[in-house]
Amino acid sequence: MSEIEGPNALSEVSARTGFSRNTLRRDGELRTDESLTAALAHGEASVYLSAGGKWLVKTDGAHLAAGFTLAEAEALGADLGEAILLGFDAADQPALASIVSADGDEFGPRIAAMDLRGIATEGRFDPDTEGRLAQAAHLIGWHAKTKFCGVCGQPTRSAAAGYRRECTNCDNVVFPRTDPVTIMLVHDGEGRCVLGRQPRFPENLWSCLAGFVEPGETLEDAVRRETMEEAGIAVGPVTVVASQPWPFPGNLMIGCMALATSREIAFDTIEPRGVPLVFPRRGPGDAGGRACGGADAAQARGHRPSSDQGVRGRDSLKEATREGAASSAACRPRAVSPRRLSSRPAPRAVPACAGAARASP
Ligand SMILES: [Zn+2]
Repeated sequence: MSEIEGPNALSEVSARTGFSRNTLRRDGELRTDESLTAALAHGEASVYLSAGGKWLVKTDGAHLAAGFTLAEAEALGADLGEAILLGFDAADQPALASIVSADGDEFGPRIAAMDLRGIATEGRFDPDTEGRLAQAAHLIGWHAKTKFCGVCGQPTRSAAAGYRRECTNCDNVVFPRTDPVTIMLVHDGEGRCVLGRQPRFPENLWSCLAGFVEPGETLEDAVRRETMEEAGIAVGPVTVVASQPWPFPGNLMIGCMALATSREIAFDTIEPRGVPLVFPRRGPGDAGGRACGGADAAQARGHRPSSDQGVRGRDSLKEATREGAASSAACRPRAVSPRRLSSRPAPRAVPACAGAARASP
């Protein structure tokens, strides 16, 4: 039994988010340049292939497979000398990621190219595969943007089986970076919270506010600053609830609960993001009795990590928020947008653009 399936699983909200259930053993402390050579000599190695920003998958009717053999990868034109060793599965078989240069349309009827968001949203693969693809996407994106040295400008080369890049001219060494992003459910402690949306969001998708953590800033201060910038609401106590790998392109999404200490919404004071949506108090039958949405709401409704194709386990923090809002009639938006958390909203149309995540892709 893995750790996330053990007794602590029910209290670990992070394990219920999409991309979080990658089971590969990374062996980071053991990686050397020889690790890649050894992995490529393993007869049972599998390779995840990125082409034009999408992921190649083998299709056989209703069945999909994201892993390719080394021979299949080479036949598709993968440059395995630049492959990234993601880690090892329970049978000690290596999993790698590599790039092929052509578009997915060129590989024939039994191979398709799929977008990682679509893979996660549609639940086309098991959570472990989703997590591996997220790890691969994060690393491939980092390599693509780190081909030249930030000190002397000369080319860098991949090292440590893809977990490091070294300058070919000076002694500069760089490691994969992960940028922290806060996503916060700002609530008033009385059952109401603030959500927003971006124009590119699908219909009826609303999100918690979110934003990058800036240099020299704590997570809690980032929540307070971003909430003030995006909605003009002052925030007091902040609680970190969960985190989620977010490979768009290389973030860690950190979910927080934040208690508003002011009620006036002064939206668009800094960022032009429209008007936030405020959900009313939850009904007496709803678990928790707190603000709706977010990982907290998912937890309150007893969502469990699942090893099957269920949607619950692969919810992103944002999608959990949407689900949390939509699942309760008491939390359904009134199609209005009040200017005060504490006042009954006057009817008005919800704008097409309302505030949301600067950091989200
Ligand atoms: Zn250099």
